[in-house]
Amino acid sequence: MRCERGSARGSGNVITSKDSAAMLEKYDLNKLAIGTLGSHSALNIFKGAKEEGFRTVCISTEKNAMLYKKFPLADEIIIVKDFTELLSPALQEKLRSLNVILIPHGSFTAYLSTEQLTSSLRVPMFGNRQLLHWEANREEQADWLRKAGLLLPATFKKPDEIDRLVIAKLPGAKGGKGYFLANSPSSFRKKAKEMVDRGLLREEDLEKIHLQEYALGVNVYPSYFSSIIKDDVEFLAVDRRYESAVDAIGKIPASEQLEIDVNPTYTIVGNFPIVLRESLLPELIRMGENVHKKAMELAPPGIIGPFCLETVITDDLKIYTFEISARIVAGTNIGIGTSPYAYLRYGADMYMGRRIALELKEAREQGRLPEVLA
Ligand code: AMP
Ligand code: AMP
Repeated sequence: MRCERGSARGSGNVITSKDSAAMLEKYDLNKLAIGTLGSHSALNIFKGAKEEGFRTVCISTEKNAMLYKKFPLADEIIIVKDFTELLSPALQEKLRSLNVILIPHGSFTAYLSTEQLTSSLRVPMFGNRQLLHWEANREEQADWLRKAGLLLPATFKKPDEIDRLVIAKLPGAKGGKGYFLANSPSSFRKKAKEMVDRGLLREEDLEKIHLQEYALGVNVYPSYFSSIIKDDVEFLAVDRRYESAVDAIGKIPASEQLEIDVNPTYTIVGNFPIVLRESLLPELIRMGENVHKKAMELAPPGIIGPFCLETVITDDLKIYTFEISARIVAGTNIGIGTSPYAYLRYGADMYMGRRIALELKEAREQGRLPEVLA
């Protein structure tokens, strides 16, 4: 189906668990389908849904639809011009008629605004929409993580305050595109100009740049699943990212690096699985539990389903958290099939996409679906 482009205006009324419950009343729960946008972690989500016996619906662009035909996991593919068509009332009506529960992933936040997701997407969605505001706003997010007792890198309000190595970031889920490093106000200005000249940044984005202390250490991204049904925060997988150009710089000798004046950028290309030193696990597990506990106060019932902490671990084993994603991250794709931590908990064949489907299946069996669609 091709749907007309819908209005992107938010009604201002945040969709709540009650609204989802009302939508569900018209659903045939025996024919519940799991749907998502065709990108990011869609294959992970669809495979998990099929393994738990759900039908699947993929909303895809024409260009990428071949992927969802090549891996035969989508029972239905709905072609859209672009992902903002998800806001079209006609498409939403179609999804509801297919009994779809949407699973949000990184493309939802990359292509739609928080306001659109919380107020204009009238299809039941797995997760806690109220938390999207906390996640989208850097200050509120940092406040949430600090209140949960996590250690965060220092932040700088303006470039003139830079007194150490910082990473300059654009707001939103940009997957590291357009990030750069600077260690003084003048190096910031020079690098920013270079980024604009290279077309990696727009002049108007400079105002919105977030300056964060660069934590020197290795990146570790633990993924958790907060189960409302089991009342538990599970530790399921750990990954790290493969980023261009920063992961390529080490291949060039330092003298050449200086000559070509290379500027590390962080465009995400893929992910690697990690197993961690076992003595780091208790702290990482505590961190996940505390973040969920704090979220229960900020936006009850807290995190519903997958979330990921983006951390750097230094050589004195301090764990700095620089971001949270309160949804499935593409890094969990490393676990499709299983990952060591999912295996330890569930045995083979458990991974984030399947864990989501299992939660929905158990919620349906127990008549608790509205609790996971807040
Ligand atoms: P895409 O649909 O590939 O454009 O991805 C949507 C958003 O998710 C973009 O902001 C990407 O940078 C981000 N993203 C995609 N894949 C990954 C990944 N493997 N790790 C982290 N972020 C990702
Ligand atoms: P993000 O898009 O915020 O997940 O960040 C993209 C990449 O930038 C990460 O994978 C890290 O390699 C790097 N990064 C972000 N923040 C920091 C930080 N405060 N210290 C060190 N590296 C960081």
